[in-house]
Amino acid sequence: MYDICIIGAGASGMMAAVTAKRENNNAKIIVLEKLGVPGKKLGVTGNGRCNISNINCKNHEKVLEVFKSIGVLTRIDGEGRLYPYSEDAKDVVTALTSAMSRLGVRVKCGDGVASAGRNSEGFEIITEAGSVVKSRKLLIAAGGKAGPKFGTVGDGTKLAKAFGHEITRLAPSLTGIEVYEDISHLSGLREKCKASLFLDGKTVREESGEIQFTKYGISGICAFNLSKYIKIPEGEPLKEGFKRYGIKIDFLPDIENGEAFLKERKSLLHEDYMVSLVKGALAKYVGERASKDVRKVSEMLKAFSLTPKNLRGWEFAQVTSGGVRCEDVDFRTMESKLVEGLYFSGEVMDYDGICGGYNLQYAWETGIKAGKYMAICLKKCE
Ligand SMILES: Cc1cc2nc3c(=O)[nH]c(=O)nc-3n(C[C@H](O)[C@H](O)[C@H](O)COP(=O)(O)OP(=O)(O)OC[C@H]3O[C@@H](n4cnc5c(N)ncnc54)[C@H](O)[C@@H]3O)c2cc1C
Repeated sequence: MYDICIIGAGASGMMAAVTAKRENNNAKIIVLEKLGVPGKKLGVTGNGRCNISNINCKNHEKVLEVFKSIGVLTRIDGEGRLYPYSEDAKDVVTALTSAMSRLGVRVKCGDGVASAGRNSEGFEIITEAGSVVKSRKLLIAAGGKAGPKFGTVGDGTKLAKAFGHEITRLAPSLTGIEVYEDISHLSGLREKCKASLFLDGKTVREESGEIQFTKYGISGICAFNLSKYIKIPEGEPLKEGFKRYGIKIDFLPDIENGEAFLKERKSLLHEDYMVSLVKGALAKYVGERASKDVRKVSEMLKAFSLTPKNLRGWEFAQVTSGGVRCEDVDFRTMESKLVEGLYFSGEVMDYDGICGGYNLQYAWETGIKAGKYMAICLKKCE
């Protein structure tokens, strides 16, 4: 009989194990990981640099304190994003696995959890290979569905559902946006811009930064962040849902009256009036379509219109929108309000943040809380 069983050796599961063992050294803890190694996804985050957190997150300092205590120092970039000092995501994985091993947490890899149930003594967890693990507390930290090659295929929400938890609609988030317009001519082009997302004609979100054109539509941080705000309500068909959204891209956000500005340039520079405003490929694309109509050119450069058709799928998404309904979990402890002794942390919950370290911060924070309160609760019963 273990005191604590944690399903998933990802960001939040490992953080929970370290926190719980530090809080209660007597606790017998096991972490069950489906893949052959812990932290496979964590090791590739932030393009291999691991954007650990962001100084704009309320509780980032608490998280950094824990990291400091296990040897991970951080540095901040110009936009408030925090990275390990070495800028190597693998070092974050090593620090967490070393801490678990020093503290005496048992980590069992290469066998996924198939099912879990509760009886009067505690939890009974059955793995795909047929092993049975018994524990007094259970933490589901098995992530969402984004990035299935890193072990996250939706097992966490299935396990939660079996305990009676409601799961809100799951959808890929922080991913590319496919559009109806054929913009394949622009594929590979990167442009600085302000991009706006509309729902039924009303602005939902504005993003400034770089947008990347692809064969299917748009990608890059700007597009990823907009994708988070495309949410099709439960029950609404996806095709109809997407039709209600629109995107407009302003390639000249610093210029208020585009038409007057372009007219003046045209009188000075004649055919070359778009030179140095946008990259050559975009100037050519706009020139070919708007011909010599300055008003139309202004419209294409200030309000380049795209119609979302779909979001790029789970393989391309960085996070999962939807998950265990937040109202059913006590956020002070991360314990389920439906099943005593059952806890949740990380992406299995219905939370998805924008790019910039917000998703890992959520994983660390909820992992710390769950680990701490599982351990405290055990101490009370000792
Ligand atoms: C390519 C990529 C880059 C990213 N970069 C960043 C970034 O720089 N900054 C940021 O904030 N966020 C980033 N994210 C998002 C971030 O990685 C996740 O939000 C975070 O890892 C979620 O933590 P978690 O502990 O909930 O789940 P995960 O870290 O996904 O861990 C879940 C673990 O559970 C295991 N598991 C699943 N099912 C079972 C089962 N049945 N039995 C046992 N184990 C199971 C999985 O194998 C996995 O190891 C990125 C995501 C991707 C895909």
